[in-house]
Order: sequence, then C-alpha cells, then structure tokens
Amino acid sequence: MKVHHSIAAERVQEAVKRAAASLDDPGFCVACGAETEGVEPDACKYECESCGEPAVYGAEELLVRLA
Ligand SMILES: [Zn+2]
Repeated sequence: MKVHHSIAAERVQEAVKRAAASLDDPGFCVACGAETEGVEPDACKYECESCGEPAVYGAEELLVRLA
C-alpha cells in the first residue's frame, strides 16, 4: 500500500495510543499526509477534507495495513 512519505509508522502508533487514552478518533490521509479527527478506527478510503481523495484511513486500520 502506498502512503504519503510523512506518514511514518511511529506517527500512526502515536495516534493509536492517543486514541486509546482519550476520545480522539485520529485518522490519516495516505494521499496528502493530512491528519484528521473524528475518523472511525476502522475507517477505510474515506474522502479527505484536505485533498478530496478517498484515501483517509482510521489510525488503527492504517497501523494494521502498515505492519
Ligand atoms: Zn488528503
């Protein structure tokens, strides 16, 4: 899976930890690298508010795919 160069595994892991410790629902757009909130953990190919691409994944989902 191709992801934006700014999305490192550590960055996604950090977001998953943050989600577990709070009510945040972080997600990432793999097309432009934008981090968004209010994304379900298992979100897949949601439309990005920044670039419009259907490339937003929930942090948990993305971590599984990067592994
Ligand atoms: Zn985007």
